[in-house]
Amino acid sequence: MRALIVEDEPALMDFLCTLLTNAGLVVDRTASIDAALSALRAAPFDIAVIDRRLPDGDGLSIVKAMSAQDPRPAFLLLTARDAKADVVEGLNGGADDYLVKPFEPDELLARLRVIARRRHPKRSLVLAAGNLTLDLEGRSASVGKEPLELRRREALILEALVQRAGRVVTRDVLIEAVYGFDDLIESNTLEAQISRLRRKLRDAGARVEITSLRGIGYMLRASEAAL
Ligand code: CA
Repeated sequence: MRALIVEDEPALMDFLCTLLTNAGLVVDRTASIDAALSALRAAPFDIAVIDRRLPDGDGLSIVKAMSAQDPRPAFLLLTARDAKADVVEGLNGGADDYLVKPFEPDELLARLRVIARRRHPKRSLVLAAGNLTLDLEGRSASVGKEPLELRRREALILEALVQRAGRVVTRDVLIEAVYGFDDLIESNTLEAQISRLRRKLRDAGARVEITSLRGIGYMLRASEAAL
């Protein structure tokens, strides 16, 4: 999942980035309404955490500006004020949830999970292909009954491929699912990750195959059980 954080206080921004990255999300950061709208129009975000007090205005205006877009991310607003009127205004403005600062990190993550699930109700939390299983909520992978250790990006790549198993996933779609705007992507980074992933899957006896389609992208398919 991709998350956008819109917050102008550097310390809170760093804290949120670390929290969401450790929770397995691909995170981008912006510090103003303008920058947030550009980011939201440029990439498919699943959730956005938005501070209401931003240098160029009320963060709620981001939610309002994006309300007609479909699909749109799930929005969680952050505010320093615990005023009923604020909460009502935020929710009426189209926000999916609302949290008052200071907040408990676990509570933020729990609420993000709820609003993401509500916005994408059909998205399954457990994906499978062949004898490979990905548990998106528990953030674990297994081949048969054996756990499969994956690095963060390997897990994100595999998630994107398994979600579209049997279909071509273009390089661009894969990169959008796995990297944030600020991540440096060398021309061969994705290829290197995929070949490491292939090796791990093979070593674990996973009955899935990742095919490269030169110049287009990749496709994951369940392969036949070996005799
Ligand atoms: Ca602020």
